[in-house]
Amino acid sequence: MIIAMREHATDKEIQHVIDRVKEAGYQAHVTCGEERTIVAAVGSHGRRHELEALAAAHGVAEVVPVAQPFKLVSRQSKAQRSVVSVGGVLIGDGSFVVIAGPCSVESREQLFSTALEVKAAGAKLLRGGAYKPRTSPYDFQGLGVEALRLLRDVRQETGLPVVTEVMSTEDVDLICEHADMLQVGARNMQNFALLRRLATVQMPVLLKRGPAASVKEWLLAAEYLLAGGNRNVVLCERGIKTFETETRNTLDLASLALARELSHLPVLADPSHGTGRRSLIAPMSRAASAVGADGIIVEVHPCPERALSDGAQSLDFEGFRSLMRSLRDPLRAVGEA
Ligand code: PEP
Ligand code: MN
Repeated sequence: MIIAMREHATDKEIQHVIDRVKEAGYQAHVTCGEERTIVAAVGSHGRRHELEALAAAHGVAEVVPVAQPFKLVSRQSKAQRSVVSVGGVLIGDGSFVVIAGPCSVESREQLFSTALEVKAAGAKLLRGGAYKPRTSPYDFQGLGVEALRLLRDVRQETGLPVVTEVMSTEDVDLICEHADMLQVGARNMQNFALLRRLATVQMPVLLKRGPAASVKEWLLAAEYLLAGGNRNVVLCERGIKTFETETRNTLDLASLALARELSHLPVLADPSHGTGRRSLIAPMSRAASAVGADGIIVEVHPCPERALSDGAQSLDFEGFRSLMRSLRDPLRAVGEA
């Protein structure tokens, strides 16, 4: 249930509502909007009639049930869009943020040269995998701690905040010391132990959509983070499994737009994993921008043919510069067929 306070409700009236929500057996999550404060009562074991009765309390405008199962993620509990700061870079403020870098951190030279290039071309954040979720146990698994140290060094050298994937609860503290945003990969979207743990840190989380997850399941995964206390969540559509085999995944831009409609969280697109093909990255990035994405995350490598993971979908430096130029072009040139 949402308890919407009146515009000029006093702190005392708001506190009274919070206390009553807790007494009724729910958690109280407070959002202070520009105009009014909203108290979201979440939980399933409380006494609902006591919440309904709060309509008569001083300072309360209305008490309404939240239609969606993802209570805190839903637009109903927060009408204004959330803006997430990643090392000072804002995601969701109306700008189109580009996160770029290698699929995996492979060496100092590979990471530093890529970071300098993507920064010069306009990327605001650097990506790079230290722990890699690979389908085969024989494939490159990432450099682990060594990669984390390189990420920390490159951030210091370039000033680019870094995003890296966390696969296990055991690695959370160490990664928090080295990175600015933790990526939950597609395969871990419903790793509930990991989500619960990440809910307890204040580090921003990039939550990728699982390859076979519905929008509702994706938003409920985000709900774990918000319900546990971490509001710094950015969603990422990275393609889902369909019957199509010519592309690695099917980048589901309709669901990206829907996620932005149903929730207040920023949403990015990952056209690299979403297509698996370098030639499709610029057109799908432009399409993502057109449907309202708050930015993209793309893979870039100094020499994609030598990449230890995801070479086929990685842009080289010239390809990345060309992507950045294309994002400045009008979405469709006049007279284009
Ligand atoms: C990645 O970002 O390199 C990655 C493994 O992504 P996903 O979890 O979307 O497959
Ligand atoms: Mn990858």
